[in-house]
Amino acid sequence: MNYDPELVGRCILSAEDNEVNQIVLEHTLGEQDLPFVIVSDGAAAVAAWRELKPLMILMDISMPVQNGLDATREIRAEELGTGRHVPIVALTAHALKGDEEKCMQAGADYYLTKPINPDVLLSKVSEIIEQTNSPRIAAIV
Ligand SMILES: [Mg+2]
Repeated sequence: MNYDPELVGRCILSAEDNEVNQIVLEHTLGEQDLPFVIVSDGAAAVAAWRELKPLMILMDISMPVQNGLDATREIRAEELGTGRHVPIVALTAHALKGDEEKCMQAGADYYLTKPINPDVLLSKVSEIIEQTNSPRIAAIV
């Protein structure tokens, strides 16, 4: 994929295969100031992460080709030794006991359950952006 170079390092990457959820994400993310890119499977998410160096990833867990857990593991494995750590928010409809733990073990930083609640999602996004922009983090980067 060829992405607009303007997006590199300054967009939100969202991986979601369900069309209705994609529309909800488009509307929700459209309410904030950052550009965003939506891809439809885990392998596309890993490829887009390599190219776009996004500010964060909103990662659906249940996706075709490669699921969100495997995509998260692959990203964390590639980050090893680079000092990089993209914030990953796992999104799953399977609000079953043990799911949050599975997401965290795969390397996600946060966990939100579906159906997507726009207010909850947007506040998580701004929380992550605030942390990323904090002087402490900036000094480490
Ligand atoms: Mg899905």
